Amino acid sequence: MKVHFLGTGAGIPSKYRNTQSIVFNFMQELKECWMFDCGEGSQHKIMHTNIKPSKINRIFISHFHGDHILGLIGFLSSRSFLLNKEELPLTIYGPKGIEKFVEFNMKITNTKLNYPIYYVEYNDTTTIYENSVVKVDIISLNHTIQCFGFKVYFKNQKGTLLVDKLREIGIEPGPFYREVKNQETFIYNGVEYVSKDFLGDNKRGKCIAIIPDTSYFEKILDFVSDADVIISECTYLKEEEYELAQKYKHINILDIYNFVKLKNFDKIYLTHISSRYDKATIDNLSNNLPNNVFVVNDLDEYNI
Ligand SMILES: [Zn+2]
Ligand SMILES: [Zn+2]
Repeated sequence: MKVHFLGTGAGIPSKYRNTQSIVFNFMQELKECWMFDCGEGSQHKIMHTNIKPSKINRIFISHFHGDHILGLIGFLSSRSFLLNKEELPLTIYGPKGIEKFVEFNMKITNTKLNYPIYYVEYNDTTTIYENSVVKVDIISLNHTIQCFGFKVYFKNQKGTLLVDKLREIGIEPGPFYREVKNQETFIYNGVEYVSKDFLGDNKRGKCIAIIPDTSYFEKILDFVSDADVIISECTYLKEEEYELAQKYKHINILDIYNFVKLKNFDKIYLTHISSRYDKATIDNLSNNLPNNVFVVNDLDEYNI
C-alpha cells in the first residue's frame, strides 16, 4: 500500500503546503484508493500523482473544519466529469451531518453526479468498514468540534505455499496451487489434505493509525498502541508552543514524544503543520527528531 500526502498544512494553505488530504493507494491489494479528508485544492494536488480520482471509492472525513472538507464538493463534481459515464459508486464516511452537507451543496450549486454516493455517518460503533483484506476503526478525538481518528488494519495473510512439501505428495506448481491456498482442505488422488499443513506461517498485517486534529489525551496512546505506523497531526512543532497547542486543541511535538516512548513504531509521519514555520525552521526542527519521526511535505509518497 502506498500513502500519498496531498496536503500537509494546518488551517489555511501556504505557499508550500495545501490543506489536509491523504490518499491510501490500495490498487494492488483491492483495486481501490481511499481519501482521508479533502481540503480545498485536493483535486488539483491529485493531478500531480498517478492516482485517478475515479479510482477513489471511499472518502473518510475526520471533521467539518474547512481545512479538511472544503475541497470535497469540487472533488465530487470533477470526478463526475472524469468518469465517462462509468458508474463507479463512492461511499463517504463522516460525522453526523455529512450527508446533509454534501446534498445541500449539490443542490444549491445545481451539481448533478453520474454516480451514486452512499453515506456512513459515525456513531458509537468503532468499526466502520471491513472487508476480507482490511478493517477500519474510529476513535472520537478531543478537538474544538467533534473530530474522529482512524485505524486501518490489514488482516493477517496466509503464509506462502510450501512447494517442496506439495511436490512430495506429487503436486507440481500450477493452477491447483490456488485451490490449496484458498481452501481449508483439498483432495488430491482421492486423499483429503489440510491446506495449512502446506503453508508457511501467517504474515502479520500492518496497522496504520491516523490522528487528525486533536489535543493529546491518554486514550490516544491506547488507540495507537497496536499500530505499526502513525500519521498524526502536529500543528505545533516547537516545544515552547505546548500551551498554544493545548489552547487550540492540537498536537505539540512533546505529545509525539509520548508515542515515541510507548514503543518502537516503524514510522511516525507528522502532518497538519502550522503555516507559521518557514522551510528553514522546519528543516532545522526535523534534524533533531528521533529517526523514525518525519515531517511530511505535500506530494510525499511512502510505501507501507
Ligand atoms: Zn485542521
Ligand atoms: Zn480542526
